[in-house]
Amino acid sequence: MSDPTRPRGPKIIAVANQKGGVGKTTTTINLGAALAEAGQKVLIIDLDPQGNASTGLGIDASDRELTTYELLLEEIDLSEVVQETAFENLLIVPATVDLSSADMELIATEKRSFLLHDALRQTAMDDYAIDYILIDCPPSLNLLTVNAMVAAHSVLVPLQSEFFALEGLSQLMLTIREVRQTANPNLRIEGVVLTMFDARNNLSSQVEQDARDNLGALVFQTRIPRNVRVSEAPSYAVPVLQYDSASKGAQAYRDLARELMSNQTRAAA
Ligand code: ADP
Ligand code: MG
Repeated sequence: MSDPTRPRGPKIIAVANQKGGVGKTTTTINLGAALAEAGQKVLIIDLDPQGNASTGLGIDASDRELTTYELLLEEIDLSEVVQETAFENLLIVPATVDLSSADMELIATEKRSFLLHDALRQTAMDDYAIDYILIDCPPSLNLLTVNAMVAAHSVLVPLQSEFFALEGLSQLMLTIREVRQTANPNLRIEGVVLTMFDARNNLSSQVEQDARDNLGALVFQTRIPRNVRVSEAPSYAVPVLQYDSASKGAQAYRDLARELMSNQTRAAA
C-alpha cells in the first residue's frame, strides 16, 4: 500500500473474463455478500456499462448520478460515489451506460491505465476501513478491464461449466501477463471458479477435469452449482444470501468466500 501508516489496506480483486454470461456479476455480488456476512467490509466497483451489479444490488437508475464514470474521469472523491446496499457491510460504486464511452475517453488521457488504481488509493478510502474491493469487469479485454487489472492485487476468473469454457482463457492470461510486464508486476491470479456447475451433467465434469488438468491449483475447490435461486435473486435486487439464505447457491458462495479468505498463497501463474 502506498500509505505506510496503513499496513493492510483493502485487498483488491478484479472479477474478469472477456466472455459474457459466465457469472462475473453473479460472483461479484454473492462473493461480496458472503465476505460481508463473514464480517468483512466489502466495496463492489461496478465497472460494466451494463450496470448489472448495481441493479442486482438495488441501486435505482435515479440514484446513479455519480458513478464509476465520475470516479475514473472526474477525479471526484470516493465519498460522493460510494453507496450503501441493503446488505450489511456491502457497499457499491454503481455504473450506468455512461461508462461505455469511458473506454474511448480513457485512451485520450495520459494516465489511462492507472485511473482506477489512483482512485482506489485516494486517502478518503481509509475512512471506510474496507477489507475487500471486488471489481465487476465488462465482458471485454478493453481499457476498463485493464484499469481493473492495474488497480488489483489479483484476478478472479469465473469459468462457466459449458462447451468452449477454456477457450479465450489464454487471451485473458496473455492480458494478465502484459499488465504484469507494464504496470502491475505483482498482479496474481486469485483463482478460477467453476460457475453454473451441474454435477449430473457429464459436460460440467469434463470442463472441471480440463480446468484442473490445465490450471492445477489455480482452480478453486469450491464449485458454484447452477441454482435457480441464484438467477432469481437479482430481480429482487438482493444477493442470493439474502433472497434464499439456505439455498445451494448461497451455501456455495459462502464456501468460496471461506476458501478465498484462506487463500493467501495461491501461486502466480
Ligand atoms: P456475466 O456478468 O459474466 O455476464 P452473469 O453473472 O450476469 O454473467 O450471469 C449470466 C446469467 O447466468 C445471469 O442470468 C445469471 O442470473 C445466470 N447465473 C449466473 N450464475 C448462476 C448460477 N449459479 N445458477 C443459475 N444461474 C446463474
Ligand atoms: Mg456482468
